Amino acid sequence: MKLILLGAPGAGKGTVAKRLTQIDGSVQISTGDILRGEVNAQSELGKKAEEYMKKGDLVPDELIMGIMEKRLQEPDYQKGFLLDGFPRTIPQADALKKLMEKLNIKLDMVVNIDVPRDVIIDRLSTRRTCSNPQCQAIYNIKSMPTKVEGICDKCGSPVIQRADETAEAIAHRLDTYNQKTAPLIGFYEKEGMLKTFTATSSDEIVAGVKQALGI
Ligand code: AMP
Repeated sequence: MKLILLGAPGAGKGTVAKRLTQIDGSVQISTGDILRGEVNAQSELGKKAEEYMKKGDLVPDELIMGIMEKRLQEPDYQKGFLLDGFPRTIPQADALKKLMEKLNIKLDMVVNIDVPRDVIIDRLSTRRTCSNPQCQAIYNIKSMPTKVEGICDKCGSPVIQRADETAEAIAHRLDTYNQKTAPLIGFYEKEGMLKTFTATSSDEIVAGVKQALGI
């Protein structure tokens, strides 16, 4: 399957993407994960992106498109991909459309995950992430705590609260989403690609996606 997952930060795009990869071997492509890997490696790209990310601002479109042009030409997505956190602006969506035409890629659907703001704020402020860039496993201090407090179950590295998941940064990321990313809903509606799921459970969303794709 070739899908874009659209939704505010904390809507569950990453969780849904991971579940969908298990169905048919499609790969999850998360620009947030790629950028955090670059920041941890302190690459030139990572150094440029870090300041924007810490504040909860979007990284400039040119940097993101540079990453995605390379990523979508790698051979590992033969079975499909789940774009998680990309595109996030109208210029990115326009550039993606042109890139897919050039690479002869046909999108199946844009999955819009619609979750109430209070649920999102609660989820993000209680979320914890493994600090190991190769792992980046996600936990939640309320609903999915680590077995040993502060230590990743999978790799044993410290589990941290991301700099952009403080109350202030979360509020700013949600405002940024409303201003810059929410207009993509109309964009993909016009293209006839959008399907909105209003649900807080990833099970329900995964079932809905399977049904919509007829798989
Ligand atoms: P995420 O993990 O998807 O919430 O992304 C974390 C941060 O990475 C965002 O708050 C942005 O600063 C940056 N980022 C990720 N994807 C994009 C994108 N497509 N466009 C611009 N910035 C992005």
